[in-house]
Amino acid sequence: MSNGAKANWKPQTKMVHGGTLRSGFGETSEAIYLTQGFVYDTAAAAEARFKGEEEGFIYSRYANPTVDMFEKRMCALEGAEDARSTSSGMAAVSMALLCSAGAGDHVVAARALFGSCRWIIEKQMPKWGIESTLVDGTKMEEWEKAVRPNTKLFFLESPTNPTLEVVDIAAVAKLADSIGARLVVDNVFATPMQQKPLELGAHVVVYSATKHIDGQGRCLGGIVLSDKEWIDKSLHDFFRHTGPSLSPFNAWTLLKGLETLPVRVRQQTESAGKIADFLAGHRKVDRLIYPGRADHPQADIVRKQMKGGSTLLCIDIKDGKKGAFAFQDALEIVRISNNLGDAKSLITHPATTTHKNLAEEARAELGINPGTVRLSVGLEDVDDLIADIDRALAKVA
Ligand SMILES: *Cc1c(COP(=O)(O)O)cnc(C)c1O
Repeated sequence: MSNGAKANWKPQTKMVHGGTLRSGFGETSEAIYLTQGFVYDTAAAAEARFKGEEEGFIYSRYANPTVDMFEKRMCALEGAEDARSTSSGMAAVSMALLCSAGAGDHVVAARALFGSCRWIIEKQMPKWGIESTLVDGTKMEEWEKAVRPNTKLFFLESPTNPTLEVVDIAAVAKLADSIGARLVVDNVFATPMQQKPLELGAHVVVYSATKHIDGQGRCLGGIVLSDKEWIDKSLHDFFRHTGPSLSPFNAWTLLKGLETLPVRVRQQTESAGKIADFLAGHRKVDRLIYPGRADHPQADIVRKQMKGGSTLLCIDIKDGKKGAFAFQDALEIVRISNNLGDAKSLITHPATTTHKNLAEEARAELGINPGTVRLSVGLEDVDDLIADIDRALAKVA
């Protein structure tokens, strides 16, 4: 499939020009094709389109020109042969998982997963006869031990939410290949700018485009990228008949997000690194986890598989929940929100929000403490952010 970008273009060029389809008007910016369907000149043309003998669009649940531009631009960035975009990140994750396993199969997943992803594996898959084992993703021996004769799928996030643990993607991919299983990687936290799971050997990469790809808090979206054969054989029909399609308007918003993704992620990562250095050793901070620092628990794997640090930090504030709440409430620029990857800096207290449904022990197992907060660094001036954080930390007992 041509994605409208030259293979030797750098990511920043691909993000501006990849996938562009211009109409006869020659518009500079991508057009929004806000249409449900398409018309045919003749009955024979409709027949040919349905038979697949003639190229063209049929119905926007299947494909749409604006959505197609977004998918092609993402393929160019990711180095993927094909993709299907969806109305949310969870639609993308659930479709990728449900198209990779069926009744009688077994799934191995890292236990540090985004809450809804973990729900699909632990609650929904068993109802459809799919068994699973959750492992500590940072320990290769746990992945190996969990393998069964019917293991068909491996699933992981790296870095993880919210403790930013890093999993060795190439090692898990190698294990998957050795038993003929597929590895699906949720690459939201790394962003396509910092990590390329397909190049590391993963078979499928999924995104919530809601996060850094939009990056400006406007719309939900998701995408599944893989090789053409798997998309054609395992995903295509499920996608068409279950209808998780992305709206053309949201696809357009995400296309415009991609144009600025490289500069935003670069700036946000640089600021996050400066904030991490400021917080390291701060007397109101019990623990700091930042993938760009040499003291990160998996610093050697970060160096091996990621280009930069992260736009996110995991911080344990002194005095547990009381300290974490006092800190959040005292912030003036950083806003309290469970979202991430936004132009606006956002802070979350996982134990009482995103991870409140987990049992206390399950949270402890993931390293989520009462004082843990997750900071998503935005595009504000870093000196203003550090001043805001410093002033708010002073409010912690
Ligand atoms: C947000 C998120 C999702 C889900 O995406 P939505 O767009 O909210 O449906 C999945 N995985 C990770 C890691 C996320 O951060």
